Amino acid sequence: MKIVLIGPPGVGKGTQAILIAEEFGMEHFSTGDIFREILKGSSELSLKLERYVNKGELVPDDIVFETVKETISKDESTGWVLDGYPRNKDQAELLDSFLKSENGSLDYAICLKSNKDVLIERLSSRRVCSNCGAIYNLQMNPPKEKNTCDECGETLIQRKDDVRETVEKRILIFLREFTPLYKYYCDQGIIREVNSDDSVGEVFGRVKDILSNG
Ligand code: AMP
Repeated sequence: MKIVLIGPPGVGKGTQAILIAEEFGMEHFSTGDIFREILKGSSELSLKLERYVNKGELVPDDIVFETVKETISKDESTGWVLDGYPRNKDQAELLDSFLKSENGSLDYAICLKSNKDVLIERLSSRRVCSNCGAIYNLQMNPPKEKNTCDECGETLIQRKDDVRETVEKRILIFLREFTPLYKYYCDQGIIREVNSDDSVGEVFGRVKDILSNG
């Protein structure tokens, strides 16, 4: 199965992607995670990416697509879930033409939905592990020990792009790009909408139902 998760920043794409990958034995790729990993080093690419990622702006399509293509080409598993890609219709078309060249296609575009206030609240209280990338929420899913990852004991940090002003900008960018992307997948008949206002477990129940029963 090949799945993309689309929806606004903070809607829970990363969290749901991890659960889907575990439940269905698939690979999970996150363009945001890949970029943050590249940003830890210093290279020509990291200098380019810095201009966009930390400010909450979209990385140009050609750079993102090269990264995605390289990642999924190396993958030998039978399925994957992509989180954070595509962000616009052009990216969706690039992905489709690549899959077609490999005789493949997407099975589902899962669209997670939530209201703006919930998104801003979730992003402002999100913390991530600086080592293993585990995701926490200070209100809904806090770590057992303050600022410490339950999984590996490392320090939790706030992503640079999760500060309030950047969050507002990211949501505006999402709204600008979303409608054509949504329509593109609607026309293909592979969009499935999921309300993501509830707990992680409830949302995952809905996602699991779709992936198990269509
Ligand atoms: P995310 O972790 O998905 O919120 O992504 C973090 C940042 O990485 C975004 O704000 C963008 O700067 C960049 N990014 C991730 N995926 C994409 C994409 N598909 N297109 C453009 N930029 C992206």
